[in-house]
Amino acid sequence: MKAKETYDIIVIGGGSAAFDAAVAAKKAGADRILMLEKAPEVEYGGNARYSGTGFRFWHAGGPEIREFLPDLDDATFKTLQIAPYSEADFLADLNRMTLNRMDPVLAKTLVGESNKAVHWMKDVGIRWEILKEHANVGGKKYFEKGIAIHVAGGGIGQLEQWRAIAEGLGIEIRFNSPVSAIHGNMHRVEGVRVCGEDGEYDIAARAVIACAGGFQASAEMRARYLSGNADFVKVRGSKHDTGEVLRYLIELGAATDGHWQSGHMSPIDAKAPSFETPQHADGRGNTQSRYDYPFGISVNALGQRFFDEGEAQHSYTYAKTGRAVLAQPGAVAWQIYDQKGLRQRRYPEHPATFEEAGSIGALAKQIGLAPEVLENTVAEYNAACRDDIKYDPTHPDGKHTVGLELPKSNWATRIDEGPFRAYPVTCGITFTFGGLKVNERAQVLNGKLEPIKGLYASGDILGLFFHNYPSFTGQTRNAVFGRLAGDSAVRDN
Ligand SMILES: Cc1cc2nc3c(=O)[nH]c(=O)nc-3n(C[C@H](O)[C@H](O)[C@H](O)COP(=O)(O)OP(=O)(O)OC[C@H]3O[C@@H](n4cnc5c(N)ncnc54)[C@H](O)[C@@H]3O)c2cc1C
Repeated sequence: MKAKETYDIIVIGGGSAAFDAAVAAKKAGADRILMLEKAPEVEYGGNARYSGTGFRFWHAGGPEIREFLPDLDDATFKTLQIAPYSEADFLADLNRMTLNRMDPVLAKTLVGESNKAVHWMKDVGIRWEILKEHANVGGKKYFEKGIAIHVAGGGIGQLEQWRAIAEGLGIEIRFNSPVSAIHGNMHRVEGVRVCGEDGEYDIAARAVIACAGGFQASAEMRARYLSGNADFVKVRGSKHDTGEVLRYLIELGAATDGHWQSGHMSPIDAKAPSFETPQHADGRGNTQSRYDYPFGISVNALGQRFFDEGEAQHSYTYAKTGRAVLAQPGAVAWQIYDQKGLRQRRYPEHPATFEEAGSIGALAKQIGLAPEVLENTVAEYNAACRDDIKYDPTHPDGKHTVGLELPKSNWATRIDEGPFRAYPVTCGITFTFGGLKVNERAQVLNGKLEPIKGLYASGDILGLFFHNYPSFTGQTRNAVFGRLAGDSAVRDN
């Protein structure tokens, strides 16, 4: 390789994993660090731009969370119900949801380092806000265990904060700079080729950290690896995450891990754009997500329910529910609510596509389903709801159906208070689960499961998860493995 330039560390990507890694490398003592971002400056940041930036990590409860919210007044703090979430709780959630298929060493690393990594972000200057509560009862705001804060300003807020911190530390960011080749072999990486606007050129480095995201924005790669009809999905995040860096590294000899036929896929407004769904103006959450399904029923184009809408809180089911929708005829479904269900919506202010009618039969006609079929589905469901268990939205209340082949395990209240609404949904992919195999120091391994010298990785490009995932583990993974990658890259090279 005839390199035009030489850096200590090259970070491929301009999203949150890349910033975590670049800042960690700087803090570990690297002098010259270059971030190479494929996107133009106005689109930089990958999925982070669209992210809710909630973080899941183990913590001791309210008093520890308060350290992240120095401006919060006492009166507001007293309304927050934030229970402790232990390391064992997080590990149990992660292992249960990934069907115990995750590399146990990496699962332990992700969970064990999560608390330190999120505190590290705070200490390097990232500011935080309290999440929107999942239930508000009697003036008290309830949070699910393990998820209470997000980065101030959401996706864009996180990117702007990281960019200011990185540039303040002298880290260079080069936009419009797609990496088009990796120099090296299965034993050692020495640099990269960049396809700049004025032609290709090579850059050498002591270490390269790959943070170029998943392959969810490439229909061709989705069709090649994911399960049926993955061409149909809508991409919730960046159009730039097309997987080429992952391909170059696999061709070089990198080993892979994670669930290649799957990804984080959630229900999304059927009329959402094909790419890059918009965030709410305050950065808190995505306006096209449709996560209120535990408070109603979902039916497919045949008017049939097809999953247990009340299996658990949405944070434990949403990442696999999009895949369930994708598997239905036409890859569409309708979320059906009565007024009781609608009152439980977390973001009633978000714009949404829906139809409304005074009866279930009329609603069915409006959405193109056979009225008698939908009426029958709702009548069977209503007859299976029990009155002897109290409805409680603050936690899984055990208010389950009786006698249905496909149960609803919690929050099963009758759909009987009109007007009724149907929200059409399809599958929105967030990121793919198949990717590079790393060790607990974020070194990328080769086919012999030995570290490739000079090569590290973090973020969605990693192969870590299988089947499903507990909400808000992506950003935490970025912080944990980004920090490890930055640190290891400096110490090893
Ligand atoms: C709508 C939405 C909401 C989300 N909400 C949350 C949440 O609240 N909590 C949570 O934990 N996770 C959330 N996620 C997931 C989380 O945002 C992602 O897992 C995370 O942003 C991935 O970070 P990354 O840096 O690995 O990838 P990205 O942020 O996608 O960054 C990849 C970067 O690589 C660049 N790139 C790609 N190819 C090349 C190339 N050839 N050369 C150079 N650069 C390249 C891209 O342009 C991009 O800058 C959400 C995601 C979406 C889409």
